[in-house]
Amino acid sequence: RAQFRNGGWQAAQVLPYEAISIDPAAKVLHYAQEVFEGLKAYRHSDNNVSLFRPLENWKRFNRSADRMCMPAVPESIFMDGVSAVSSLMAKHIPAKPGQSLYLRPFMIGVDASLGLAASLDNDFYVIASPSEVYQQGSFKVMIERQDCRAALGGTGNVKVGGNYAAALAAGRRVQAAGFDQSLWLDPAEHRYIEELSGMNVFALINGALHTPSLSGSILPGITRDSVLQLARLSGVEVIERSIDINELLEAVVSGECSEVFACGTAAVITPISIIADGDIRYEFKAGNPFATQLHTLLTDIQEGRGEDVFNWNWPLTDVNVL
Ligand code: PMP
Repeated sequence: RAQFRNGGWQAAQVLPYEAISIDPAAKVLHYAQEVFEGLKAYRHSDNNVSLFRPLENWKRFNRSADRMCMPAVPESIFMDGVSAVSSLMAKHIPAKPGQSLYLRPFMIGVDASLGLAASLDNDFYVIASPSEVYQQGSFKVMIERQDCRAALGGTGNVKVGGNYAAALAAGRRVQAAGFDQSLWLDPAEHRYIEELSGMNVFALINGALHTPSLSGSILPGITRDSVLQLARLSGVEVIERSIDINELLEAVVSGECSEVFACGTAAVITPISIIADGDIRYEFKAGNPFATQLHTLLTDIQEGRGEDVFNWNWPLTDVNVL
């Protein structure tokens, strides 16, 4: 934990995992003044532990903090925090495909006053949990025609707790219908696909890889960026553009769109097997050769089997651990 008090950062501490005590009037509890990140540590076959693109998470964290009127967390505090927690938890990371340590850095506004104003005092934490690949193997998604995850001019393109609050009710509807994820549409016209609640989306259409361009209400995923770079390296045409949901569904029906998949730190690359629009279901039956190939390319780098051509892995030894 590192605390921001009187306009400056105090030295970070390693503390036992336990309940934290904050004032009932703390800003975070009333005005959702909170930002967070999600990244993973992997154990490679040489037993070294490596973080995947952690500086990208640090940069996004500080963009989120800026949007929430919170102080930037210095690189040293962020990196020492994720490194210290990874080192302490390293014995819980099996060197097995699909296994990793999920790290959750977050920062909360702790000023104890009910006035609607940004907190001056803030607490930064890093917690962690062992992580496995998703059980399902593929997602069944439902187009969300009612709610929006992100508002125009809102906070959809940063990673703050409030965004996820907006998705809770849709998540419950999706579960009740026997599906896994909501497919969100844009907040202006409710017409262009955006992302899932915690993942970006891609579609393979006529052999080219299409993904929604970053609209201002989509989170710029680090996995999304990695997929784009890997696809380009493999010589695949990559197209970032607005994708009309009706155009996508027509392309699925005609067979021009052969695969749709989700990607994110938690989901890595997970194929989408069904898109439901109300009672109508669009199914992908031909397997997911493209998503599977990209999954292999990405996890070979993350899990230390393949050459790290983009220099994405950050071995723990590079950092001064607390
Ligand atoms: N969109 C949303 C809304 C998310 O919460 C996440 C997870 N951070 C993503 C996309 C994927 O981002 P990343 O690849 O950086 O995990």
